[in-house]
Amino acid sequence: RGDSKDYDSETESVCPFCGVGCKVSLKVKDGKVKYVEGINGPANEGRLCVKGRFGFDYIHHPHRLTKPLIRREDAPPKGLNVDPADWSTHFREATWDEALDLAAKGLMKLREEDPRSVAGFGSAKCTNEEAYLFQKFIRQGFGHNNVDHCTRLCHASSVAALIENVGSGAVTATFNEIENADVAIIIGANPIENHPVAATYFKQFAKRGGKLIVMDPRGVGMRKFATEMLQFRPGADVSMLNAIMNVIVEEELYDSQYIHRWTENWEAEKEHLRQFTPEKMAPICGIEPDQLRRVARIFANAKAGLIFWGMGVSQHIHGTDNSRCLISLALMTGNVGKPGAGLHPLRGQNNVQGASDAGLIPMFLPDYQSVTDDAVRAKFSQVWNSGDFSNEKGLTVTEIIDHAYAGKIKGMYIMGENPAMSDPDVNHARKALAKLDLMIVQDIFLTETANYADIILPASALYEKNGTVSNTNRQVQRVRPAVPPPGEAREDWAITVDLAQRIELNWDYTDVSQVFAEMKQVMASLDNITWERLETETITYPSLSETDPGQSIVFGHGFPRPNGRAKFTPASIIPPDEAPDEEFPMIATTGRQLEHWHTGSMTRRAKVLDAVEPEANCSMNPRTLKLMGIEPGEMVRLTTRRGSIEIMVRADRAIAEDMVFIPFAYVEAAANILTNPAIDPYGKIPEFKYSAVRVEKAAEA
Ligand code: SF4
Repeated sequence: RGDSKDYDSETESVCPFCGVGCKVSLKVKDGKVKYVEGINGPANEGRLCVKGRFGFDYIHHPHRLTKPLIRREDAPPKGLNVDPADWSTHFREATWDEALDLAAKGLMKLREEDPRSVAGFGSAKCTNEEAYLFQKFIRQGFGHNNVDHCTRLCHASSVAALIENVGSGAVTATFNEIENADVAIIIGANPIENHPVAATYFKQFAKRGGKLIVMDPRGVGMRKFATEMLQFRPGADVSMLNAIMNVIVEEELYDSQYIHRWTENWEAEKEHLRQFTPEKMAPICGIEPDQLRRVARIFANAKAGLIFWGMGVSQHIHGTDNSRCLISLALMTGNVGKPGAGLHPLRGQNNVQGASDAGLIPMFLPDYQSVTDDAVRAKFSQVWNSGDFSNEKGLTVTEIIDHAYAGKIKGMYIMGENPAMSDPDVNHARKALAKLDLMIVQDIFLTETANYADIILPASALYEKNGTVSNTNRQVQRVRPAVPPPGEAREDWAITVDLAQRIELNWDYTDVSQVFAEMKQVMASLDNITWERLETETITYPSLSETDPGQSIVFGHGFPRPNGRAKFTPASIIPPDEAPDEEFPMIATTGRQLEHWHTGSMTRRAKVLDAVEPEANCSMNPRTLKLMGIEPGEMVRLTTRRGSIEIMVRADRAIAEDMVFIPFAYVEAAANILTNPAIDPYGKIPEFKYSAVRVEKAAEA
């Protein structure tokens, strides 16, 4: 580690992995980041997890893209067949001018034929400014809203429910508010692995005597700190939550004053909940009536309660209904808008909050301003000095893939996303990508998606960038380049600007701070947040004055809805899209592991992380393995209606006996070959958390 005299420079930035947004100091020697130290950001107070501390060296990996590449005319057919260490049979090196000109020519040809034949995937791995420019590129450049990013695969249903019922898609309280809570629910989240530094605050809360209620079909690590652990049946969220709320209604534990002053539709919600008695719901959700009653009383009788949730809630065809229940639970107990209380979907990627805020979604412009609102579009057209664009909501990630498969979308610009690994039913997604006439991929590695590209533009990692990112807490923070991008690689915003100019857009940005200044013109959430302040401060939006560090809690004095009130939206039980049967008798669920991040393109190239967790694996209950005659460490074959993978299995008592847990970071056993593309009708999020699966010994399959 050494001390500062051992390094050439030290640069403050933000960890590139999860939505906690830990602040870091990057120590550089001889042009390379040598050490990462946690520093005093509001979300981490000097702490880091193993990814933040040891997962940085992917930025110096020899697989980094350093020159633009163009697919060779004599390349083999598109497919997952490019070796990132030797791509020369598929691609040839090009100059930036040649690659960008070719990309622009292809995009303009498609625009002339049919502008809707082009779509864009941006990334929650890029900065706010890059996300803003990317959505502007598609909207201004092609006149429609077919632009999206991985929020669609993550918390889209949570955001849909939050916007519908409280009027805003962001958290109502930072996770640090747990200091002021006396009860907290963590549901469908595994923060010890996925938000590890946030988990340290949750553990401290429990150790101080706070009541922690953990709800999850997997016996996740937080159960060790829980006052109550509810290991409910997969997909049974609504039945369990409605039963808890039924108790609150029947025992009149709700906060009448709060409901009367700040909400609407309570009577309908109350009547709806009467049918969901604990006795009726227990066989569905698998939780005993006594425990449902106990939990209802603990939460309703607390002075202040927080609800945290993760993708276990959102990634279902009823993900929006799951979130509606959580919102109703918080509202009926008066747990929004006061210290220690609130709703907090734990955001996954480091900048998924910021990318969504910046309008990288097909139905909303920056700050969740609807594309269907004429006045809103007129404002953007004026600031962009360009004509109007479509008032139709655009296509989402999975819809764009379906349109590409059907041949309706012919060209895509993909910045930093990896749909060839991250989409559900990924064999279908790969076939769709292979059909495109023009695919431009901007990334730092030759990802599985870049395998299908026609043009590859080498981009920059977060530690090579200037800009801002926004974490799960609504905290806006500066990122700064500790080292330059390798070779001829460039910052993403600069590449997008160059490409925009070549498709004849009127862009003249020369510095990323100019993009931030433009964002401030159209995003009220950035009021009082200036580039200068961000030099030295982390600011939680909304910030009420130029000296206000920002509001940790919002909606204490009303909600940003037409009548200032939050809404109860009753939710009914919708079963998972496919039920286990004789052919596929178990349930597969997917997620992340502590050491690996999402599709693994970064962490599997980080030496320490890859050494700790080098091999594709899944987990099953040891009793199930014993019954099936499978030893831990053996290879199993997992098969769903979409396809099969072979993968090493581990024994884990935390997994229910009828479940298999599969991390989705491993290309050699891609979990998303198995997953169900059925989507939630509101958030349009796929049901990653529930697929009917068959498990066999690989040797006997
Ligand atoms: Fe990075 Fe998240 Fe770990 Fe913090 S908790 S160091 S942001 S991965």
